[in-house]
Amino acid sequence: MTDRLREIFSAEQIAQRVRELAEQISRDYHDKPLVIVGVLKGAFIFLADLVRELSIEPTIEFVRLSSYGLKKESNGEVEMILDVKNSLEGKHVLVVEDIVDTGLSIKSLSHRWAEVGLASLRVCTLLDKPARRKTDIEADYVGFSIDDLFVVGFGLDWAEKYRHLHGIYVVEFDADE
Ligand code: 5GP
Ligand code: MG
Ligand code: MG
Repeated sequence: MTDRLREIFSAEQIAQRVRELAEQISRDYHDKPLVIVGVLKGAFIFLADLVRELSIEPTIEFVRLSSYGLKKESNGEVEMILDVKNSLEGKHVLVVEDIVDTGLSIKSLSHRWAEVGLASLRVCTLLDKPARRKTDIEADYVGFSIDDLFVVGFGLDWAEKYRHLHGIYVVEFDADE
């Protein structure tokens, strides 16, 4: 079985958009210390590119949330399987995500951190699928808004494949899968 991949954003398009987002974030946080929290694994490439375009100096942490495994959809329960080591209390936090889909992952982070007491919380996502939202979560910085399509590449996987690709692709699955 071979998956068919159709490119929707090229490496050049992504790089351009990452520069724009970094400019905006640098402007918004020029007067306050920023802690960037990447959500593993999907955000690792986006985060690496984004932080290198910033003109401010962030600190960087990671969390890992339970994945959907081989399913394409969340069941609504999100577990944190790797937490930050340093407390985020009193910090200005920017969560960096690969994609906001139902919004359940971000919602669970914001619930968890409401108890910690952050100075502020914003969300930056490379991709946004607003049509699929099941929560009131809105990202503050969005690279690209897309239709209800399953995408891979630039950190995003299908069953752990395709994360290494430079562009973003729609996977066209075989009908019998
Ligand atoms: P949410 O909790 O917002 O429904 O889902 C967030 C996570 O689901 C993303 O961080 C990503 O890991 C996964 N996800 C949602 N849509 C897609 C998609 O189109 N492609 C891939 N590869 N992962 C997705
Ligand atoms: Mg993710
Ligand atoms: Mg995944």
